[in-house]
Amino acid sequence: MGIKVAKFGGSSVADAIQINKIKNIIAEDDDIKYVVVSAPGKRFSEDTKVTDLLYLCRTHIEHKLAYEQIFQVICDRYLSMESSLGVDVGMKEELEQIRKNINAETPVDYIASRGEYLNAKLIAAYLGFEFVDAAKVVKFNDKGKFMEERTNEELEKVLSGCDKAVIPGFYGSRIDGSIKTFSRGGSDITGALVARAVKADVYENWTDVSGFLVADPRIVDNPKPISRISYRELRELAYMGASVLHEDAIYPAKVANIPINIRNTNRPQDPGTMITSKPAKLEDGQIISGIAGSKDFTSITVYNSHMIGQKGFIRKMAGILEDHDVTIEHIPSGIETVSVVLNNKIVEGKMEEILEEFDRQLKPEALDVVTDMALIATVGAGMAMRKGTSAKLFTALANADVNIRMIDQGSSEMNIIVGVANKDFEKAIRAIYKAFIG
Ligand code: ASP
Repeated sequence: MGIKVAKFGGSSVADAIQINKIKNIIAEDDDIKYVVVSAPGKRFSEDTKVTDLLYLCRTHIEHKLAYEQIFQVICDRYLSMESSLGVDVGMKEELEQIRKNINAETPVDYIASRGEYLNAKLIAAYLGFEFVDAAKVVKFNDKGKFMEERTNEELEKVLSGCDKAVIPGFYGSRIDGSIKTFSRGGSDITGALVARAVKADVYENWTDVSGFLVADPRIVDNPKPISRISYRELRELAYMGASVLHEDAIYPAKVANIPINIRNTNRPQDPGTMITSKPAKLEDGQIISGIAGSKDFTSITVYNSHMIGQKGFIRKMAGILEDHDVTIEHIPSGIETVSVVLNNKIVEGKMEEILEEFDRQLKPEALDVVTDMALIATVGAGMAMRKGTSAKLFTALANADVNIRMIDQGSSEMNIIVGVANKDFEKAIRAIYKAFIG
């Protein structure tokens, strides 16, 4: 017997059919005590999420346009769910109350939060769980800053008195009672906060995919799922562009050392991905957990044969970039060269000035600029202390006829980043996947 917190995302609670699936999932597992839900998401690809409809209502009101039809679409969705699920939560009256509450002065956060509020009411009734309004337990100060400790205390206090409860995700309230939302996708954060407060053994995050994949399926055919990964490895992959859970959503579970299990509501038989503080014990031969990357970086290499004896060379370089409000991704260096790798989006329109300053302040013998570089990170805690990983990686790239322009291995030995030409990006990822996964 343990305690599980299950958060169901928008597509998992998009209509009565999906809500019935989550009822079955919960019925199968008595450990699921607390359930956090999103607002109804898309039922099919051209559909609109309820949260987007609510924001749209608000924009219409702001511009003095008729919003009633949009609001009616929302009403129809909830009323039909209430009748299909065979529950009575007084949905008509709830909707009427919201309709009365919204006018040009109504804060956007109140309107946006109603999607989760109404869905949690419905789902609580359908599951026979208690409904706990997030406004009561998730707290922000009057400036709108999230109050971590206070929230933890409130959640602990209120949930210790409920055997099983449903809590709407995405919002809470300020001290004065006004509603405040997290950023978009914020129900993941609520789920993690609840998991931390009730000291859950697992935080299950139910979506419409069976966990994370070792590589992007648009590049590699049928990539293997990642069965287990550590928070740190995941962070490295997220940094390199893999879409994973929001950092704010991972944090509360991570500090409380609670594993996060990404699951698929449409395929509950799949084990999904388990995110833990310790890396996986790697099965025979498996040394990497994921490959991720992004295109469109620029590298500027500064050649200066006297660099070694000079003080403050790198500081000057970094200073010039700071003056131009440019962040540095990597600084690979040699005896007579230092390169900086920068994101093209960030340096756009600034390159000429940066190069002039480099020339003036650093007095290089040469400056070399490459603007079409892609970065690929091969991540795996299993790389540390293991010989031959980089040899395998570089051989795979050489055999695929990919020229490596830059190499950077994090000091944690958990990550090898290579820079290749944009045009070689996909080919390189496929070659690395094949070499390590098969
Ligand atoms: N419904 C909100 C959104 O669409 C929050 C969430 O689903 O996590 O962003």
